[in-house]
Order: sequence, then C-alpha cells, then structure tokens
Amino acid sequence: MGSERPLRFVIIGAGMSGILSAIKLQEAGFDDFTIYEKADRLGGTWRENTYPGIACDVPSHLYSYSFEPNPEWSHRFSPGEEIEAYFERVAHKYGVDGRIHFGEEVTRCAFERGRWRLETKSGRREEADVVIAATGVLHHPNLPDLAGLDAFEGALFHSARWDHGVRLDGRRLGIVGTGSTAVQIVSALVDRVARLSLFQRTAQWIMPQDNPAYSEAEKEGFRRHPEQMRQLHQDLSQLFAQGFSNAVVDASSPQMKMIEDLCRANLESSVADPGLREKLRPSYRAACKRLIISPDFYQAIQKPNAELVTEGIERVEPRGVRTRDGRLRELDVLVLATGFRADRFVRPMHVVGERGQPLDQRWAQRPDAYLSISVPGFPNFFMLNGPNGPVGNFSLIEVAELQIAYILQLTELLRAGRCRTLCPTEEATGRFEAEREVAAKRTVWTTGCRSWYLDDRGIPAVWPWTFDRFREEMARPKLEAWTQAG
Ligand code: NAP
Repeated sequence: MGSERPLRFVIIGAGMSGILSAIKLQEAGFDDFTIYEKADRLGGTWRENTYPGIACDVPSHLYSYSFEPNPEWSHRFSPGEEIEAYFERVAHKYGVDGRIHFGEEVTRCAFERGRWRLETKSGRREEADVVIAATGVLHHPNLPDLAGLDAFEGALFHSARWDHGVRLDGRRLGIVGTGSTAVQIVSALVDRVARLSLFQRTAQWIMPQDNPAYSEAEKEGFRRHPEQMRQLHQDLSQLFAQGFSNAVVDASSPQMKMIEDLCRANLESSVADPGLREKLRPSYRAACKRLIISPDFYQAIQKPNAELVTEGIERVEPRGVRTRDGRLRELDVLVLATGFRADRFVRPMHVVGERGQPLDQRWAQRPDAYLSISVPGFPNFFMLNGPNGPVGNFSLIEVAELQIAYILQLTELLRAGRCRTLCPTEEATGRFEAEREVAAKRTVWTTGCRSWYLDDRGIPAVWPWTFDRFREEMARPKLEAWTQAG
C-alpha cells in the first residue's frame, strides 16, 4: 500500500453529469477540480434545446438527482426551462458553479508523461491526473442532406439551435422529422401558426401519456415531507425499469406486447380519418425506434391547419419544400428536427492516449468503451453517458449517478496510492463488446427499423440488458478488468 496521493481532476462539460460529478467529487473529499464548459451557461442539453414544447418525457420526480428532490416541479413531465433552472439551482446550492470556467472548449486532451495535458480553444493549458468527460450524448445536430437547403429564403434552423428571433405566429411552418423533438414542436405550435406542414419520412408509434400539473397542495405536501419525493423517485424508477427499460431489451416479453397494444389502441382511437391513420401507422414494432411519448400529437396533427406530408422531399427551394410528387409547399420557417449524430461523444475534442494513439483512430469505425465508461490505453479517463451505455430508455440522471459512484471507487484506489493509473484491459473491453452485441440482437431495436440506436453494422449501440444488471455492474468494479499501473 502506498501513501495517500493528492489528485487533480478536470471535468469536461457542465451539463447534468458534469454538475453531478463535481458534487460527488466534493462529497468524496476530492477538492482539487475544475469544470470546463464551452458555452456561457451550464445546463447541457437543456441549455441547447430550447424549442417550443420542450419537456422531458421521463417523469420529473425521476429525472432529478436522487439526493436533491424538487418539490417545485410544475408537471409530471416538466418543461425544459424548469429543468435547466433546476440544474443551475443545484449547482449553486452545492457551490460547484464557481468551479466552472465558461467559454472554454477543451480541444485537446493528451496523456503525456503520466498526466493528462489539456488545451482549450482560447489557448488555456491545464493538467490533471483524472479526466471526467461529461460531454453529453445527443449533442451534435444531424443536418439532413437535402438538395437546395442553402437556397431557402425563409428562416431555417435545427431544432437544437432554435432561433427565438424568428416570428412564428400566423406564419407557414415546415418541420422535417417525426422524432420526439418534432412531435413536441408540433403540439406546441400548431395553434400559433397559420399552417403547419410536417414532413414525415417514417411514421412513429406514439405512447399516450397525460401530463397533469402538480397542485399547490401536492407541492406543499412534498415540501413538508421530502421523504414522499424520495419514495416517489424510487417507485418511478422501479416502474420505469420494469414497465419499459426491461421490456425493450426483450422483444418477446409480455411488457413489450403491452406497450405495443397501448400504442396501437392510441392510433386507432385517436385518429378519425382512415387515410391519415394509415399514413401515421408505422410498419415496424413499437419501441424499435425510440418510443415517443405524447398526450396530444395525434390531436395536433388533425387540426385543420396541420398537414402530414409523406410524399418524400425532392428538394428545398427558395420559397419552400418540393416533394417527390412535384408539389411545392411554400414556407416562411423551416425547422430541421432531424436528430443528432449519436456516435460522436467526446469528439471533436482530440483525445490522445498513453502510447500516442488518438481516440479518433481507435473509434474510426465506431466508438467502444468498457462498460461505456473507459477505453483501454486511455488511463484515468472516464466518461459519463459514454458509448454503448443505457440511453434512450432510462433516466440518464440515474445512469450517471451509478456511473460516477463506480468511477469514484476507482479513483479511491488512485488516492490510496494503490496505483497511479487505471484503465480497462483490452480483453475485458473486447469481451464486454462481444457479449453486448449478442444480447443486442434480442432487443426490440433490431426488429426492423432505422434508428439512431443502430451502429454502422445495424447493431444497437446501447446497453442491451436490464437496468438491474446495469446497477449490479456499477455497484463494484471488477478489478481484474482494470490494469493498475505505477
Ligand atoms: P430523432 O429521433 O433522431 O428523429 C429525427 C427525425 O428526423 C426522424 O423522423 C428522421 O426520419 C428524420 N430525418 C433525419 N434525416 C432526415 C432526412 N434527410 N430527410 C427526412 N427526414 C429525416 O431526433 P429527435 O426527435 O431530435 O430525438 C432524438 C432523441 O433525443 C430522442 O430519441 C430522445 O432520446 C431524445 N429526446 C428526448 C426528449 C424527451 O422528452 N426526453 C425530447 C426530444 C428528444 P427517419 O425516422 O426516417 O430516420
């Protein structure tokens, strides 16, 4: 056993998991850390996505840090700006907001002479023993390759870069895409615009879900009895895991059938016109693509000023969008709700491992990581919500909390002087990937649809097992899977 060693940490990103990391480091007595954030505010995805109608479709009392329940949530699924305000409040309460360097994008992060050397876009240099990359998952907008996009004369932007200077009321709005984002935008804007054209390439299953507001009496109850919120968090977590997360990883499970029945009944009972109903009916199984949760999308798309366009986009023209049947829909505003490049992770940051290997090179085909946390050859470099982890079907907060607890157990070994560096072995990483690929084939994500879950081979790039298994894996690192050096 060596002597206790002081450790310097750098956290990259001040979103949900960066703030969490800082709080947990502080709690564990690791006080020497700095957070670098490229933007001028914290909040991650909730800072970037400000489109009308944005809300989290994980219940708010579950999409909260377990240690910081919030009696003030306005709705079962609260809006984005409330969520962003929550993270700001929590960061302030725990005193970690002062540790953030804003406007500092880390561009290079190289392991040289036993330490991580970092550089930011502004030229700032930094060193650390441990790097925690909390850089987010769905973060890099996917811009569609549509002919003529540049020629459009109206307002044009991606849903994650919403231009709030553009007037919407009484105007002709086009939306490309039918994912969770587009569906929320449609419901929020249909009553404000003169005409709404939704360009659908693929129909989506919609899971109905009410979104009631919490009454003042309920909030007061939560304020007086915080234990009620803790119980609710636990109950929701269990319900979510059993009813949804565990269902999608077993395509033949009874819960999966229940989800499919609910979605089908929603379509049958909510859409009156048989022609429209068939256009909205997906040709694949529910939850194959990330399931969409909405209380009112079908109602919105049936409004007289709304149109579902399924003909396929031929090209974008200065005045609007022309579909393959030759028809031009004139538009004032065109929103690209076309999703994200889900395989980017810490990139474009240039990460260089211990033998000078760029992470980009290792990930040239597709990203990998042991348990989604760390990559062989990149010592003391840990990712939260990294590649092939539980995304899409879990509360990412719960995921990040389990991951940081796991990482902290490893960093305790560094602090105790047991070793100077830790990184997963190639063997453990390879075995994890191989098992993951086999299990992924049993999930509902491989039942015949295109989605952002699928990698270049068509294999879901996500955690393919139950949430309980994830919890078990995260409870205690298996040290035989880690190389301890120094
Ligand atoms: P998405 O689910 O990836 O959907 C992108 C949409 O754009 C799809 O309908 C896709 O069509 C369409 N598209 C892409 N390229 C196109 C092209 N060239 N031409 C025509 N259509 C094109 O993206 P998202 O809706 O932004 O959601 C991404 C993820 O973010 C979600 O799955 C979810 O995990 C998360 N999210 C969560 C919430 C929440 O409430 N928690 C809200 C929003 C987003 P195809 O289906 O044919 O590919």
